[in-house]
Amino acid sequence: MKYFPIFADVEHADVLVAGGGEQAAQKVRLLLKTDARITVIAETVSPELEGLARQGRLSIVRRPFAVSDVAGKRLAYAATGDRLQDAAVSHAAQLRGIPVNVVDVPELSTFITPAIVDRDPVTVAIGTEGAAPVLAREIKTRLEQWLPANLGNLARRAQGLRDLVAGSIADARARRRLWERLLQGPFRHAVLAGAEAEAERVLAAELKGTAAPGQGRVALIGCGPGDPDLLTLKALQRMQEADVLVIDRLVNPQILDYARRDAERIYVGKTPRGPATSQAEIDRILVREASAGKVVARLKGGDPFIFGRAAEEMAALQAAGILVEVVPGITAAHACAARVGLPVTLREHVRQFSVLTGTTADGEPEHDWRALAADGAAFAIYMGVGNAPVLRRNLLAAGAAPGTSVVIVENGTLPSERAVATTLQDLSDAIAQLGIAGPAVIFVGLDWQDAGLQRPEAVTVYRRARSVSRQAIAAQTAEVIS
Ligand code: SAH
Repeated sequence: MKYFPIFADVEHADVLVAGGGEQAAQKVRLLLKTDARITVIAETVSPELEGLARQGRLSIVRRPFAVSDVAGKRLAYAATGDRLQDAAVSHAAQLRGIPVNVVDVPELSTFITPAIVDRDPVTVAIGTEGAAPVLAREIKTRLEQWLPANLGNLARRAQGLRDLVAGSIADARARRRLWERLLQGPFRHAVLAGAEAEAERVLAAELKGTAAPGQGRVALIGCGPGDPDLLTLKALQRMQEADVLVIDRLVNPQILDYARRDAERIYVGKTPRGPATSQAEIDRILVREASAGKVVARLKGGDPFIFGRAAEEMAALQAAGILVEVVPGITAAHACAARVGLPVTLREHVRQFSVLTGTTADGEPEHDWRALAADGAAFAIYMGVGNAPVLRRNLLAAGAAPGTSVVIVENGTLPSERAVATTLQDLSDAIAQLGIAGPAVIFVGLDWQDAGLQRPEAVTVYRRARSVSRQAIAAQTAEVIS
């Protein structure tokens, strides 16, 4: 090891940055995470640094570097872009025993800056001694994904508890075991989930030694529309913590690769009109697994709060006194709109956008068809493929223009994705003729043209052929224009 890793205390210390360009700004951005007093010395400085100086976050001295500038500094950075000036900074600092870093010139540096993962006060520094910065960046990215963004809250919380814990438990080994339980068990999860009251309850029980061993909990996780890249980092973290996965039908199997391999899997698929696990049974499974002390990840398609029956599951868990957390996901409408480049609100044309279901438990949904048929209404229908003829009929009967734009996106974000642009009057035909089976989102009242955008080539345009000839009408020929 040529470089020995240390953490330097720069609180209220003076740090010099020689140079005013992008390289200097990069170091300044890092230093701004600390409470160091930053002085930038340069004849010209970038607008970003100017702005920071105006906000009082650093001082600028507008002249070339002078040897005396290093006096009293805790650290010095040289990023002037001029080899001779950088060397002058390095020599001046080294003469006074001040650690100095010359950007990209290890021979002139006495320290190097690592890649940093910042979960203040938890800080991870990654260095490769300059051998392979790309590797350091990769490790940083992995750690960024793996460590919860609010891990620092837990560390601060622990800091605040040190005296209390030391005061209540004299035996060092017992104290260490308590810390392990607090920082790795239910207390940790409650703090990271922002469940303050629960954290307090667990803490009190842990201090009294009455905490139930390994309390179970459930995360209702939105897994998005299918593409695993659309999982949130939080979804990933919760999946990796889980002992049991309770999985919906609409969750792409590929997503399960991101969970722990040894996690138990329970499938509770609900196929429309097919074999199904009843909602009551799903609720029972969740309560049963969490009550047995397991960490449960309930994986749902899209977002749990949008046609996801999250309320029933949460209510059942709350009634059983089980901690439940909701992790939002990207809902089908948003993902599908993004796939076909169709904004769901538009400054001039679409000021409201709603999502509605095309199915209800007892068949046809009741909606305010008049409002939906109004000019300028825009909405996304979920679970609407089977009932498309009914939806079409109701909208037309309520006065919707037959030419109202309709866009259907089936299997959005999956390899089998299909998108079709048609009109309200041709909606049912398009679905029948093209064999659209779903899952699909049906957008009504949104159009590329209104947004000043181009329809992507991958979107198929469907228009039923209309001719004055009686035979043609009788034949009901359908034409598909791509
Ligand atoms: N909670 C989910 C919706 C569940 S209801 C969400 O927020 O997305 C099931 C309906 O979601 C389907 O009938 C379909 O309308 C829609 N859907 C789910 N995944 C989809 C996908 N990949 N492409 C298009 N529509 C999808």
